[in-house]
Amino acid sequence: MLIVMKRGYTEEELQEVVREIEKVGYRPHVSRGVETTLVGAIGRGPTPELMEHFRALPGVAEVIPISKPWKLASLEVQPFPTVLEFPTGKTGGGHVLVAAGPCGVESREQTLRAAHYVKAHGAHMLRGGAFKPRTSPYAFQGLGLEGLKILAEAKRETGLPIVTEVLSPEQVELVAEYADVLQIGARNAQNFPLLQAVGEAGKPVLLKRGMSMTLEEFLMSAEYILSRGNMRVILVERGIRTFEKATRFTLDVAAVPVLKSWTHLPVWIDPSHPAGKRDWVIPLALAGLAAGADGLIVETHPEPEKALSDAAQQLHEHEFAELMDKVRRLVAALDKTLAAPVLG
Ligand code: PEP
Ligand code: MN
Repeated sequence: MLIVMKRGYTEEELQEVVREIEKVGYRPHVSRGVETTLVGAIGRGPTPELMEHFRALPGVAEVIPISKPWKLASLEVQPFPTVLEFPTGKTGGGHVLVAAGPCGVESREQTLRAAHYVKAHGAHMLRGGAFKPRTSPYAFQGLGLEGLKILAEAKRETGLPIVTEVLSPEQVELVAEYADVLQIGARNAQNFPLLQAVGEAGKPVLLKRGMSMTLEEFLMSAEYILSRGNMRVILVERGIRTFEKATRFTLDVAAVPVLKSWTHLPVWIDPSHPAGKRDWVIPLALAGLAAGADGLIVETHPEPEKALSDAAQQLHEHEFAELMDKVRRLVAALDKTLAAPVLG
């Protein structure tokens, strides 16, 4: 349920509401707005009696049920966008960020080269998988810990925060030592123990949409992370399975405006995995931003033809530069802010 405080409520009244929420075994989420303050009380099915109890507390204007099954992710509980801040820029609420880098960390040289050029062309975060979720057990699985160390070196050299994937709950502690943002891949988007584990890791999470997940299921996965006390979640639309075979996945551009009408969380687009082919990455990225996305996560490799995973979809450096040039112009036309290029 959502508790709406009266205008001019006192801090003591608010604290009393929070204490009462905890007393009945619910989780409070305070959202202070300019006009008033909302307190989400998150728990299973409040009874009419319980709602009446809260309605009678001093300072409370109204108590209303939260209509959606996702609670903490809901715009009802927090009616303004979440803005996440990184040392290199912000995402959400009109602020756009770009994360870029190779699909997988393959070598020190490959990753450092990519890190330097994505920074030079204006990216704000470095991506790269050290642990790779591969369809075949015989395919390149990533360099593991060595890959994490290479990412750490790339971060020291460039100052770019690192986003990298974590595959299992047991890996969370290790990956969180190196990552600034923990990536949950499409294939793990409903791995509930993993979602709970990253909810407790104290790091922002980039959650990909599963390839056969509805948007409701996607938000319920986000809710697993939020309900563990981690409100720093970025949702990423990365394409879903349809009957269309021409692209690797079908980018659901509509997911962006729909999610934004339901949640305060930032929504990003991954144009690389749905395209499956580098020629189509730039148009999909621009479509996602035009639809309202707060960021992009894009694959690019110094020598894409030699990549050990996702070779066909990784951009060459010159194509990444072209993408960033178009992104800058589009973001300006949309009256949004692209974080400044990282200097040094
Ligand atoms: C990736 O980002 O390289 C990746 C494996 O993505 P997804 O989980 O979206 O397939
Ligand atoms: Mn990939």
